[in-house]
Amino acid sequence: MVILLLQYGADPTLIDGEGFSSIHLAVLFQHMPIIAYLISKGQSVNMTDVNGQTPLMLSAYKVIGSEPTGFLLKFNPSLNVVDKVHQNTPLHWAVASGNVNAVDKLLEAGSSLDIRNVKGETPLDMALQNKNQLIIHMLKTEAKTRVNQKFKLWKWLQKCELFLLLMLSVITMWAVGYILDFNSDSWLLKGCLLVTLFFLTSLFPRYVYYWGHNVKKISSYASMMKFAYITIALTSRRLTYSLTSLEHTAGSPFYFVFIFSILAFLYFFYKTWATDPGFTKTSEEERKVNIVTLAETGSLDFRTFCTSCLIRKPLRSLHCHVCNSCVARYDQHCFWTGRCVGFGNHHYYIFFLFFLSLVCDWIIYGTFIYWSNHCATTFREDGLWTYLNQIVACSPWVLYIFMLATFHFSWSTFLLINQLFQIAFLGLTSHERISLIKQSRHMKQSLSLRKTPYNLGVTQNLADFFQCGCFGLVKPCVVDWTSQYTMVFHPAKEKVLRSV
Ligand SMILES: [Zn+2]
Ligand SMILES: [Zn+2]
Repeated sequence: MVILLLQYGADPTLIDGEGFSSIHLAVLFQHMPIIAYLISKGQSVNMTDVNGQTPLMLSAYKVIGSEPTGFLLKFNPSLNVVDKVHQNTPLHWAVASGNVNAVDKLLEAGSSLDIRNVKGETPLDMALQNKNQLIIHMLKTEAKTRVNQKFKLWKWLQKCELFLLLMLSVITMWAVGYILDFNSDSWLLKGCLLVTLFFLTSLFPRYVYYWGHNVKKISSYASMMKFAYITIALTSRRLTYSLTSLEHTAGSPFYFVFIFSILAFLYFFYKTWATDPGFTKTSEEERKVNIVTLAETGSLDFRTFCTSCLIRKPLRSLHCHVCNSCVARYDQHCFWTGRCVGFGNHHYYIFFLFFLSLVCDWIIYGTFIYWSNHCATTFREDGLWTYLNQIVACSPWVLYIFMLATFHFSWSTFLLINQLFQIAFLGLTSHERISLIKQSRHMKQSLSLRKTPYNLGVTQNLADFFQCGCFGLVKPCVVDWTSQYTMVFHPAKEKVLRSV
C-alpha cells in the first residue's frame, strides 16, 4: 500500500494532526520494511516532527527494545542533534525512558556523552536523577573506555594485540610445563602455582575485552592458545629430541614429513584465518537501490533480506552475528580459528583440520618414543598402574603435551570426518545439515538429507567443492555463491538447482 501511494504521488514528508510524519509513524509501529523503503526513496533519516524530534529520538524514547533503534542506526543518522523543546540528544531520550537496549546501541554507535540539554544535564546526570543503576554503570564504563582509548599505550596495545596474545599463550604454555617439571615433590605447591598462573592469564583477555569492547578478541585468544600449543610442542626440547631421534631410527623421510606437516598446518591455519570467507560487501547507494527494487517487486521478504546488512541474502548464505555480516555458503563460525568458515575459506579449513590431526598424530607418536627411550618402565612388564605412575614421575611435561595432543587430535579428526561426509555424500554445509535435521523433527514424513538439490553425487560434490577436475575426469561447476540468488544451472549434470 505504501508503495502504491508513493507511486501515485503521496507526499511522505506531510505531518499529521499529532505532529508525526510517515517515517515517525513507521518507527512507532515498528514497521521495519516501511522505514527501509521510505529512507531508500529519499526521505531523510534525520527528518524532524513538530517538536524537532528525529525518528531516532522517537524510537529511543518510545519503543523499548533494540529495534527499531538498531535498524535506524544502519542508515547513519546524526547522533548528536537535539530537539527543539528539551534540547535532548537521542541518548538523553533513551536514558529518560530507561531504554537499556537503545542506550547500548547508541553508545556503541558513538553518541556523545557530554552534550547538555536545556536544563544543563548530560545523559549521566539524567540517569543519576532517575536512579537507573544499570544505565549509570553503562555510561560510566563507556566514559572510561573512551578515556583509555586516547592513551598511546592503548593504541600500541591495539596494534600489537594479536602478537601479544600469541606471546601470552606461548609464555603460559611454557610456564605450565616448567611448573609441572619443577624440581619438587610437593604437588600442593605445583597446584598452587598452576592456580595462580590460571588467574593471571585469565585477567589479560578480560582486560582486552574490557578495553576493546569486542567479543572477537576472546575467540582469537582461544585460537592463539592452540597455535601456541603447537609452538610449544615444537620448542619442547625433549619432544623435539625424541622426534629428531626418528631421523636415526626410521630414516630421514619421517623427519621430513613431520616438518612438512607442521609447516602445512601453520600455512592452512593462516589461510583459514586470513581469507575472506565470503562477506557481502555493498555501498550505501547499492543498498538503497536494492531495497527499492525488492520492495517494488513485492519481494522485500525478511527470509531473503538481511535486516542487519540491508542486502538481499545470497542463496545458502547466513548472517553471522559475531562477524556482523552475511557470509556466502555459510558453514559455521569456527571457535578454533576465531573466523567464519564460508565459501571463500572452507577448503582451507578442511586442510587445516587434516594437518592439525596429522601434527597431533606425530606428537602422540613422539611422546611414546620418548617414554620408551627415557622412562625405565614398559607397559607389558609393569602393568598399567605402575606404567602410568612411572610416566607421570618421568616427565609431567611430556604427559601434559600428550594430553593436549590427544584432545586436539580427537576433535579435529571428528570434525574432519564429519565435514568430509557432509561435503562428499550430502553436498551440504554444517549449518544446512543442522537446520534440515531440525526441520525434519516438525515434519510427519522423514526427510532424506541426501535428496537435496545440492547433492550431485560423491565425485561431482568433491570436484565442485575443491574445484578440482582430477586431470579431466570430472568437470567442476563454477558457482559464485556470493552473488547467487535463485537457481543454479549445472552444466555437468544438466540439472536445475533450487533453494533448499
Ligand atoms: Zn547480514
Ligand atoms: Zn562469523
